[in-house]
Amino acid sequence: MQLSEINSGTSNVNGIGKVGNFFHTYFSDTADSNEKISSKPREHTDIEGNKVNEEFGDILSFEKRSGAPIQVLLVGHMDTVFPKTHSFQSPQKLDANTLLGPGVADMKGGILVMLTALQAFEASNHGGQLGWRVILNADEETGSHGSVDTLVSAAAHADAGLIYEPALADGTLSRARKGSGNFTVVATGKAAHAGREFELGRNAIMGLYAAANRLEQLTDLAQGITVNIARIAGGTVLNVVPAQAVLQFNVRCHSAEQQKALDSTMKQILQEVTEQSEVAFELSGSFSRPPKTISPANQLLMDWVTESGKQLSIDVQYKDTGGCCDGNNLAAAGLPNVDTLGVLGGQIHTAEEYMLIDSLTERTKLSLSILEKISTDGDRLQALSEQGKVN
Ligand SMILES: [Zn+2]
Repeated sequence: MQLSEINSGTSNVNGIGKVGNFFHTYFSDTADSNEKISSKPREHTDIEGNKVNEEFGDILSFEKRSGAPIQVLLVGHMDTVFPKTHSFQSPQKLDANTLLGPGVADMKGGILVMLTALQAFEASNHGGQLGWRVILNADEETGSHGSVDTLVSAAAHADAGLIYEPALADGTLSRARKGSGNFTVVATGKAAHAGREFELGRNAIMGLYAAANRLEQLTDLAQGITVNIARIAGGTVLNVVPAQAVLQFNVRCHSAEQQKALDSTMKQILQEVTEQSEVAFELSGSFSRPPKTISPANQLLMDWVTESGKQLSIDVQYKDTGGCCDGNNLAAAGLPNVDTLGVLGGQIHTAEEYMLIDSLTERTKLSLSILEKISTDGDRLQALSEQGKVN
């Protein structure tokens, strides 16, 4: 509850620092070494068409037995989607087993699961050949632009990834995930007096409207492709043909091939609309979340989670999702991972976000059992991953 009360919206670097201090105390007690890493600032174009530099909080890293033959990477994010100005700021116990609050499920509760599982693992006799690294980043909710390099380089030294996003309220975990990209188009036309020289103007809003229409038509639900025209702004006063307009949109799909094809089709559409409308377009943004597909090594890790669940009478089920998380980037970097090992909860990203309190203990036991399994059989995972790289 104490943690939920500290606001840590992605833009609240100060609040994230406080959450970081809290976790630092406990993780550094269990780890051999720890490190604070600066997030990379992100340059992007806002809805007014201005280039802005966004800063993020520090990334925390903790390591144990970095020389051990089998290495696990555990990942959590300290940020939430609720900025300081949001009305949803404090936790509230709804009943004996339900805690409502910002970040309780996504994912402060999840980081607690990770922490207690590691503490229990270190207290057991299973250590030895298993080493681990924890990375807590500060910008997952806006796409991990400032932390993705750190995550990808850590993935190169690990054999398995465990990520503590919340499971669904019924305990279902995520399997494959769609890839996702956020894009901005700045349209530049030509201003003119709407009464005196209307014909000399080139209307940036109408050009952008035509482009948005065609981009939206790339949506193909049967193929799993969605284009969400999310924000549009432009124009000044009513007697001026608008010279500038800005569009922001999100694209999701299942495969890297689709992302590549969409990338070039989007550019082609903008080119064609420019030829027709004489409105120029500048496209920025990228597919920052690659699709998460399930490799044989990833399937083996998922099977181990299922087995571990069975021993604890937890029925583990998996479901594909269109949502993204750091599991996307780790999988694309070749690291098999299960990314919803946190608490059970629901209504995340809304003011009704809740977690089921008894899942803290249940999922800690599950993670402990997975760590033990990786510690015993991790070489099988390594062999399968190597095979995947060769093929
Ligand atoms: Zn999350």
